[in-house]
Amino acid sequence: MTTTASSRRAAAAGELEFFGHVIDGVEGPSASGLVFASIDPYTRLPWAEVALGDKSDADRAVAAARRSFDEGPWPRMTAGERREILHRFADLIIDHGEELALADVRDMGKPYTQAFKNDVQRTALNFRFFADHAHITPSEVYPMDSGHHTYTRFDAAGVVVAIAPWNFPMMLESWKVAPALAWGNTVVLKPAEDSPASATIMARLALEAGMPSGVFNVVHGYGPDSVGQALTENPDVDRITFTGESNTGKAIMRAASQNLIPVSLELGGKGANVVFADAELENAIDWSIRAIFTNTGQVCLAGSRIYVERTIFDEFVERFTDAADAMVVGDPKDPATQIGPLASGEHYTKVRGFFDTIESSGGRVKTGALGDGWFIHPTVILEPDRASAHQTEEIFGPIVTITPFDTEDEVVREVNDSRYGLNAMLFTENLTRAHRVAASLQVGTVWVNCFFIRDLRAPFGGQKASGVGREGGNFSREFFTEPKAVVMQMASHPH
Ligand code: NAD
Repeated sequence: MTTTASSRRAAAAGELEFFGHVIDGVEGPSASGLVFASIDPYTRLPWAEVALGDKSDADRAVAAARRSFDEGPWPRMTAGERREILHRFADLIIDHGEELALADVRDMGKPYTQAFKNDVQRTALNFRFFADHAHITPSEVYPMDSGHHTYTRFDAAGVVVAIAPWNFPMMLESWKVAPALAWGNTVVLKPAEDSPASATIMARLALEAGMPSGVFNVVHGYGPDSVGQALTENPDVDRITFTGESNTGKAIMRAASQNLIPVSLELGGKGANVVFADAELENAIDWSIRAIFTNTGQVCLAGSRIYVERTIFDEFVERFTDAADAMVVGDPKDPATQIGPLASGEHYTKVRGFFDTIESSGGRVKTGALGDGWFIHPTVILEPDRASAHQTEEIFGPIVTITPFDTEDEVVREVNDSRYGLNAMLFTENLTRAHRVAASLQVGTVWVNCFFIRDLRAPFGGQKASGVGREGGNFSREFFTEPKAVVMQMASHPH
């Protein structure tokens, strides 16, 4: 990841794009002048150079956000004024959709069609939705018998640090940045080191949309002992919103405790997908394929352990395997591609470890193969041991397990027997059962007869090791503001 001689040569030849920090409205290099290369996981060659930040860059970004919050116009604008700028920003994101999509494709190998059709649209929608939400959401007023009334103000919290993972770079960044900005905060975003480019592009577009300088800052670098850690320890920060691995979440919570500031953590998952015998099978297979193989399985919500009622197990496995085998694996830039390479050499090695140890899981390989470079084809493991790593750990790649079950009680126990609790899916035509099972699962989201569908007003987050807190709609409002009660005396003093 650090600069190689060949990437330096390519940069000197003008072949690599450069992505800088964007601090206080200016894109530029690190104080140290150091850079790192972003590797295209398809070619396994550097395609861009990125400013490599350290604590001084992180501190500079926080200072800019602090100044902008304390003295600048953004928190003092009306929600409607901010809404206008955020909508202009969303328009520019759509206009630059190809550039943004390609940036994520080249950084982390996401299939272009998924980046362009889903991620770009959702990124723009996140900005539009939260801009509108902050503009129109009502506050409560409590008329009191004493002749007073109490209302709630939702004032911006201050400087928000957003730390993001690499699997849906721009989309997950916007999920944090959009509500933070809409409620009047200023932001320092640290994208993942494996997917830096789209964050810089977004910060350029925000300035073009008319966002004042210092409102949306981007600083690049690594996590521990680098920019990430420095951001989480800075005493001028008021909120940290983080998406990433559960262990990183613990480190961030520890750092935040030193400054006693709230954190929102969206962490790992091991999504269960339960298919009952009465399910509409074609629908179940279609969603189940998307649930595990979208983004090459690098999805926190991935339906990576499927449970199928025994009476339809064989039929489900055959049809699911046929659909998995039919997926188009290849160059992520090709619009037809459905499965790209794993996002980085390091991540490939981790997922490859799961592939190489399938035998020790106690399961049978139904389909699956290694490809060239950092490719792994859709892989299906049947009936692994319940305690195997394949059944309990987040693989974060195109590998799924399928296990039969006999009763509803048994499968609910299996699903809940996990340290994660992000999401689950269930497929059934039995309405009563759908509600009963949904109520009994220890997860943040249950999808019934579908997957991935999101209403941005709904809470999103995980139970257990999958997260702390919820974001979305009013849940984001609670996190990104300091709610304040104002008690008014309505009549003149009675005495
Ligand atoms: P990661 O935890 O390794 O890194 C995420 C970010 O944290 C990166 O920007 C990284 O530089 C930074 N970081 C790492 N250590 C840090 C530290 N000590 N202090 C501050 N920052 C630090 O995660 P990843 O590998 O980029 O992403 C994959 C993980 O993210 C998976 O576990 C996945 O399930 C999870 N994820 C969760 C959700 C969700 O909504 N729950 C969504 C997407 C991804």
